[in-house]
Amino acid sequence: MNGERGTGIGGQGSGGGKWSSQTGPRVRFLELHLREDAEPVATAIRRVIDRGWFILGPECEAFERELADTFGASHAIGVGNGTDALALILKALGIGPGDDVITSPLSATFSALAIQMAGARPVFADIDAERLTLAPDAVDAAISPNTAAILPVHLYGQPADTTLLKAIADRHRLALVEDCCQAHLATCEGVPVGTLAHAGAFSFYPTKNLGALGDGGAIITNDAALAARLRRLRNGGQTDRYRHVEPGVNSRLDELQAAVLRARLPFLRSWTARRRALASRYRSRLTASAVTTPPELDPGHVYHLFPVRSHARDELQRHLAQQGVETLIHYPVPITRQLAMAGERPADCPIADEVCDQILSLPLHPGLTEEDVEFVAEAVVAFAHQWSA
Ligand SMILES: *Cc1c(COP(=O)(O)O)cnc(C)c1O
Repeated sequence: MNGERGTGIGGQGSGGGKWSSQTGPRVRFLELHLREDAEPVATAIRRVIDRGWFILGPECEAFERELADTFGASHAIGVGNGTDALALILKALGIGPGDDVITSPLSATFSALAIQMAGARPVFADIDAERLTLAPDAVDAAISPNTAAILPVHLYGQPADTTLLKAIADRHRLALVEDCCQAHLATCEGVPVGTLAHAGAFSFYPTKNLGALGDGGAIITNDAALAARLRRLRNGGQTDRYRHVEPGVNSRLDELQAAVLRARLPFLRSWTARRRALASRYRSRLTASAVTTPPELDPGHVYHLFPVRSHARDELQRHLAQQGVETLIHYPVPITRQLAMAGERPADCPIADEVCDQILSLPLHPGLTEEDVEFVAEAVVAFAHQWSA
């Protein structure tokens, strides 16, 4: 989630900030209007309407094949959203009541809600202070006889330290389920995310690196038996029409969204390259500023977000808003401190607590121009001068 849900109930309104209501912000956090993909998307929508087949038809099937090819997996299963994708993977692996799943306190809360949806309990291990994803030694320390899985989040587009996490999972015979909702096309030491272990969950929420025009999600896996079970579970546990062999759910990627995603998928590589180029520009412009830029610990980083850190985060956000730069905070509250987690085992995650007080996401999307990035970077540098003066 890009945090848009925080500004309204389920809405994707823009971030807070002061600017002239006539002109809007100078640099918007996000731009969701279609650009070079507008024509192909319109054509795809027309095709679905003309065909008159709206659920589990040729578009979903074709998208699953194209997605699996593009993301380097043997199988892809289209589902209703990223949260369902995570919950369905856990269910399909037989993880549920009585099981603990170790995950990160710094993510969209939906990561942990998915564990609860599967009937298991989220257990939180602190993050690595630099990478901001699950710290392997903290995971190791959190393992108990009830632990069934590790669920790392490839946060902001940067892969978690999955090689080490996989070694821990293998040593303790635990499942490893990857939350790839912010990491479309990312790789971890050259291996596509989602294929490092059992399965990976993707979201196509409109603000993600590959977005639908509504909700959507997918699971990728190299395990044929797991893929078959997931196909059944997403469709009410049916093997054939009206034959429900296990308690499944209703979570299908509809034909309209699948067609939209098929039309956009061919642009994803160039959009990702664009994100990387803009991130590198930010990085070189912000070296002399008082903010810490996100470290790139793996060249497979796809920059879903560009979160900087500052000890004066709230002042920086106010300053940028006055300059007409929209920013958002990912995330203002660690999952461990969400009321929705009040029933879970308390966890001490001081690094996540500290990061949530310092982090601020600058605008970063493929529609941003070099001038926009220069403008934002200049405003950040000016703040640093003013703040230290
Ligand atoms: C977006 C997101 C989700 C949830 O995806 P939905 O499609 O909105 O259900 C889960 N985890 C992370 C890290 C996300 O960014």
